[in-house]
Amino acid sequence: MKIVASVKNFEIALRTKLIRSGCIFKQSKSTLIIDLPLVLMQPDAELRYQIVSDLENAIFLIDVSENGGAKESMGNATIVCGGLTGKKITPYYVARGRTIPSGIHAQFGVPVMVSTVAGYRKKNIVDIEVQQHWIRQQESEAWIETKQLYFGPFIEMPKQLKHFQAAAEAAWKKCQCIDCRHVHYAKLC
Ligand SMILES: [Zn+2]
Repeated sequence: MKIVASVKNFEIALRTKLIRSGCIFKQSKSTLIIDLPLVLMQPDAELRYQIVSDLENAIFLIDVSENGGAKESMGNATIVCGGLTGKKITPYYVARGRTIPSGIHAQFGVPVMVSTVAGYRKKNIVDIEVQQHWIRQQESEAWIETKQLYFGPFIEMPKQLKHFQAAAEAAWKKCQCIDCRHVHYAKLC
């Protein structure tokens, strides 16, 4: 999971500047998706991203993937869903064709806030972890803040998290899906 900057209808001068400064970016039609450089911090500190000049008006997105699957009796998987609703959201990339078993199956770019639901399987025990993630920004630095809403057995998820039930069920299935090669929870057209 990381923060990227999205600039729609960009000017060629910006693209040139990014190339000159060694920034990594992807171009999709008239949009640039730019990897923000990391601010050098102490080991163990949270990752902080530098908002380089010329990107003050960019939209910042949390770049996060649905990934994982099972191998024999072990497995872990991450599902991505709406930050507050737990509903399916639309990925900007879906792995098709020769997908990697238990690799990345869909990639999402979400502004402001997103939730992830992870499943961890050890033999016949599956634990579910529900987290919300926000982009925080202060002056020229941005970082992802994470709040843990739940960690424990699927059947013991508290009632107030019932809007994450469908995503949790998907995580529960995906972490038991041997050599998973497909998307379990996304709005696909
Ligand atoms: Zn699967």
